[in-house]
Amino acid sequence: MSLTVLMNAGPWLSVPPPGYGGIENVIATLVPELRRLGVRVVLASVGESTLPVDELVSVFPDGQFGALQRPYNQVCGVAQAHLAGVVRELRARDDIDLVHDHVEAVGLATLTAMGPDGPPALHTLHWDLAKHPALYGNLDGGDRVRVNGVSASQLARAPGALRDHSVGHVHLSTPLAVGAERRSRPEKGEHVVVLGRINPGKGQDLGARLARQVGFPLVLAGPVGPYHRPEDLAAAGAEARQNPDVRFFHDEVAPYLDGELVRWVGTVAGRERDDLLAGARAALFPLRWEEPGGTAVVEALALGTPVVATARGCLPELVEHGRTGLLTTDEEELGELVLAAGLLDPDECRREAAARFTPAVMAERYLALYERVRHLTPTADLQPA
Ligand code: UDP
Repeated sequence: MSLTVLMNAGPWLSVPPPGYGGIENVIATLVPELRRLGVRVVLASVGESTLPVDELVSVFPDGQFGALQRPYNQVCGVAQAHLAGVVRELRARDDIDLVHDHVEAVGLATLTAMGPDGPPALHTLHWDLAKHPALYGNLDGGDRVRVNGVSASQLARAPGALRDHSVGHVHLSTPLAVGAERRSRPEKGEHVVVLGRINPGKGQDLGARLARQVGFPLVLAGPVGPYHRPEDLAAAGAEARQNPDVRFFHDEVAPYLDGELVRWVGTVAGRERDDLLAGARAALFPLRWEEPGGTAVVEALALGTPVVATARGCLPELVEHGRTGLLTTDEEELGELVLAAGLLDPDECRREAAARFTPAVMAERYLALYERVRHLTPTADLQPA
């Protein structure tokens, strides 16, 4: 008998997502591998999701992401309506062995509120766990609701009540890691890339300052708030400054941009993103926050690009200092490390990614956690999976 999992992707974006969509991308890479391992997947998502699954259940026909721009009192029913649909589904059928939930805060609260009648549930924490202190600090999921992190360091900083529900962590993956060790060596340029949302935590201001100080070409790639292209940001009026990331860009990053040595190219996608990253001397992560999962880190390694970063959050778990990258706790040292990164072997990075960060590795790890959660649930019907 096979295991049936209800994968709760939430109401915000379709799976796979049309553009940027971290969590929906994780689900889109996880589900095919789980199905390959024999798991039946019932996807709870919006109707327009196209990911092949055994069954799709939805409340909303299309992604509700745009609603997040509206005031709280107009938005707060969206995730609840989706979760109410999930609960209706769970109550109406008896074939769901486990719920794998990805919906921030509301998913965890709703599954917990179902009490002992609900199925075993695993809620993946994709974000910074300093958020939602009242929810996490008082969590009581009984024997049924468990959580997992995306890195050990993320969980280590979690409130005690949340940690008590943890069954461990699963590192993120990338399809780029599949066969990475067999790909031919990319032509390396001189440039360095910072790939990610322009945001104080991601530290593009620090990267840009060091590039100007030390003198290495730097490409900043990623959106500024909702703006994906420099011309869109330039055309936006003064009200764009209401967005804190737009303010950060204008006040802290833009002064270092000169269009030559230091450039912001907006969001890059697909082949363009991969070529930019693969051809870089290093992928720089001048972090000022504890990076919880770091998809862009594993993508850089998969493309044979050493990682230079502040040793924060998950970075020491993903990158081996001196072999696949260079890490430091002293942010002023990052500039010198960028210069030294050319000595590292791109093949080591690609081998590491192929061994540790493929979707298949991630799916095997999740399957083991599903079994663990079911065995920890006294009332679960433990037929052999
Ligand atoms: N990304 C992209 N184009 C960009 C900037 C970022 O495709 O111009 C992608 C990047 O490749 C990665 C994701 O956005 O897949 C960012 O995920 P990560 O976990 O690194 O950071 P988050 O934004 O989730 O904190």
